[in-house]
Amino acid sequence: MTAAASPPEVLRAPLVVEFPFTRSLGPVQSAFLTGLRERVVLGVTTSDGKVMVPPVEYDPVTADEIRDLVEVSATGTVTTWAWNGEPRPQQPLATPFAWVLVRLDGADTAILHALDAPGPESVATGMRVRIRWATDRVGAITDIACFEPDDTPADPTDAPQASPRAAPHDGVFTDAVTGIVAEARLDYTYSPGRAQTAYINALSERRTVGERCPSCHKVYVPPRGACPTCGVATTDRVEVGPAGTVTTYCIVNIKARNLDIEVPYVYAHIALDGADLALHGRIGGIPYDQVRMGLRVEPVWTEGGRHPDHYRPTGEPDADYDVYKELI
Ligand SMILES: [Zn+2]
Repeated sequence: MTAAASPPEVLRAPLVVEFPFTRSLGPVQSAFLTGLRERVVLGVTTSDGKVMVPPVEYDPVTADEIRDLVEVSATGTVTTWAWNGEPRPQQPLATPFAWVLVRLDGADTAILHALDAPGPESVATGMRVRIRWATDRVGAITDIACFEPDDTPADPTDAPQASPRAAPHDGVFTDAVTGIVAEARLDYTYSPGRAQTAYINALSERRTVGERCPSCHKVYVPPRGACPTCGVATTDRVEVGPAGTVTTYCIVNIKARNLDIEVPYVYAHIALDGADLALHGRIGGIPYDQVRMGLRVEPVWTEGGRHPDHYRPTGEPDADYDVYKELI
């Protein structure tokens, strides 16, 4: 039986980027979120008298600092909307809902949030809505659970309510919210493409392959499938390394979360023999303050590792600067 060679399978895998983003709030955002905790919505007045909700710290026209907080209403008008038929995890509502921009009564700008509505036919630009407050409020945008339809007519004067509120550091709010942790999560299905699939498959055999540009003859490692200089596809697969040369490096003094590596350690650009592009790797097996440009290194694999754990000195004489000066 004869069979045509089938094209190599291109890898695909889920890739989740997830991290807690911790930020301090500053006086304006602190007042806004502390206000939400107390079921009060605060905007900020710009130099031309407009009220912005959510508030910002700098005037969008003059760039001046703005700090004049004013309370606006918990009711407002939808200025535009989009239906979300398939809510994703951690969105404001688990059932289908509308994303809405709502101009709260007393505000000149609109705030983005969710509107709890039975279906898109019950949502319209111009409809009246009101805030549904979360039962447990902590000083976060989620203290507004969502908006819901409201049959109260708009205030005909539609002016900011008269009572300016001072920022929490002036003592209006006790126990002000000064920072938040925003959980960031990005879900991807990642396909590395043909060139990197070959690179990853070769790594599983502890080999490193790059691809050569047919025009300038540079060998790219890891290969991206095209030469960024010539703009042509790279097709000629080339095995490089395993040894290489440190072209430049830095000493890491900050311990990363979830990385069990003692600091200080050295992270380096390493040009594998035969490659025209340096890749990144950690240098071990040598005191950090003895690592140098031109140091010859080789990969160290750990059991089950999908890439070299680190690189260590080979003991060869250092490479001549002229050999790697184009690879720094
Ligand atoms: Zn090229």
